[in-house]
Amino acid sequence: MATPLLLLALGCLTGTTEPAVVCDGEVVTETFSLKSDADGVLEIPVTVDDNDDAFMITTARSAGTLSSDVILDPEGSVRLDWEDWLSARDSLTNAFFATTEVSVLNWPVRDEDGPLTAGDWTVLASTLDDEGYPKGRVDADVTVVTRSCVQGRASLIVTIAYADSLDEDREVSGAVEAAAERWIEIYGAYGIDLDLRFVSANIDGSVAEPLIGDEEYAAIYEEIGEGVVVVIGEDVAGFADLYGEAGGIPGPYVASSHSGVAVSWLIHAGTDAAFSDDEVQVLAETMAHEVGHYLGLFHPVESDWNYWDALGDTKRCTATGACEAALADNLMFPYPVCGANSCTAQTALSDDQVGVLQLNVGVR
Ligand SMILES: [Zn+2]
Repeated sequence: MATPLLLLALGCLTGTTEPAVVCDGEVVTETFSLKSDADGVLEIPVTVDDNDDAFMITTARSAGTLSSDVILDPEGSVRLDWEDWLSARDSLTNAFFATTEVSVLNWPVRDEDGPLTAGDWTVLASTLDDEGYPKGRVDADVTVVTRSCVQGRASLIVTIAYADSLDEDREVSGAVEAAAERWIEIYGAYGIDLDLRFVSANIDGSVAEPLIGDEEYAAIYEEIGEGVVVVIGEDVAGFADLYGEAGGIPGPYVASSHSGVAVSWLIHAGTDAAFSDDEVQVLAETMAHEVGHYLGLFHPVESDWNYWDALGDTKRCTATGACEAALADNLMFPYPVCGANSCTAQTALSDDQVGVLQLNVGVR
């Protein structure tokens, strides 16, 4: 029995009682039920441990809408208040806005919103009626995920789900696989390794909008149960101009009608329904872009040139020409910028954008 003695000796040599900081990206998930008070407020407790650097609150109910509104730190200080962002032209999170069935809040959103301090935090969420007004005494299922810090490279689990047996179509599955390889390079350059899986989903090829919500996403996520699910369809809700859509900014890691990203293969392939090299590149960028939304990124500027993300290092512009000149190569630019023969590669992310991705609890 030499081993226990050896361990004991090593223990003596280190001679310290300080708990070591272990940045292993491990998550602790807690699920419980709460009832909102008469004013529709849910008081959600969040226990943050020493090594935790991010948490996500997902609040869900069977019908009606929800929002996440306020974050209080262990000292009772307000760290986030939706009213501060109500009339802002900068977008921080969609958690403030009434969403059907599920509300998702990841905190911190940006590096500058952190770091977390250990102790008992409180998140205030609201149960709302269909018009967005508070509705009291409503049951909600709450999922609290706390994540330990991550050292070095992080990883994200992504499942690509083919609708309508599209995996059997070699033109489509070949292009999706080639695009996935490029997506691995795009995220890999920013320290995030994709852990990709491929499955077949028995749903219609015209897939629903995950932002609006559809039970199909809940059913698919229920089966897969982790990470981000990207559904490849022929089109998204019949739109001829929608490349893809994410279920939320950020999106949930529990089964819900918003738990997925939808991507149209046909709009990328074009009228010949065959993929050129450039079209594969845009497909890769669409998957990376939509999952960027799912992880919490907004467009650096919306295409009305009137609303921006809340990040300090994405250039601020107010007109088409200036915005394309400044940001056409950014992964989160609102549309592909294409000339007669090719499109500008959109793979760039600023440090602050990478910070948002790295703080999402699904990245670990
Ligand atoms: Zn977008």
